[in-house]
Amino acid sequence: MLKYFLPTEHVKSIFDIHPESLKTRNIKGIITDLDNTLVAWDVADATPEIAEWFKRMKAHNIKVTIISNNKWERVKIFSEPLNAPFLFSARKPLSQSFKRAAKEMELSKDDIVVIGDQVLTDVLGGNLAGFHTILVVPIVQTDGKVTRLNRKIERKILSYMRKKGKISWEE
Ligand SMILES: [Mg+2]
Repeated sequence: MLKYFLPTEHVKSIFDIHPESLKTRNIKGIITDLDNTLVAWDVADATPEIAEWFKRMKAHNIKVTIISNNKWERVKIFSEPLNAPFLFSARKPLSQSFKRAAKEMELSKDDIVVIGDQVLTDVLGGNLAGFHTILVVPIVQTDGKVTRLNRKIERKILSYMRKKGKISWEE
């Protein structure tokens, strides 16, 4: 059971994920979270750096879909200027939206990495749906209301796994 909370990989930020290295691993698509993964949860628009990251992925033919548990307006306002397909109110960690995103990109699970900042939604959901998962450090240390309880549980799980020697990265 615990293995489902463990990401396949852990990196500092989305900017540590490069199209060149994804391609060498035959990755053709990305399913990414929005809040605290791409920008801080209370920032409406993509930064120029994020826009550039999306452009680089596109230039390398790597498809990116944003899936968020947040509401339609928030996800749409962020995603549309990037020309990025998105799913809102995704109900992660349920598998449905992960599978739908893969289907819409016309890619199989093995071609896709799932990226996010939360163990209980992004990592658990990605793992349960059978994807390779990459955990990033949250952009800011604060969270929207609904995330705060998840974060408390997440800290307990991570500290337990650290004690068990399942986690090698530093906080
Ligand atoms: Mg998030």
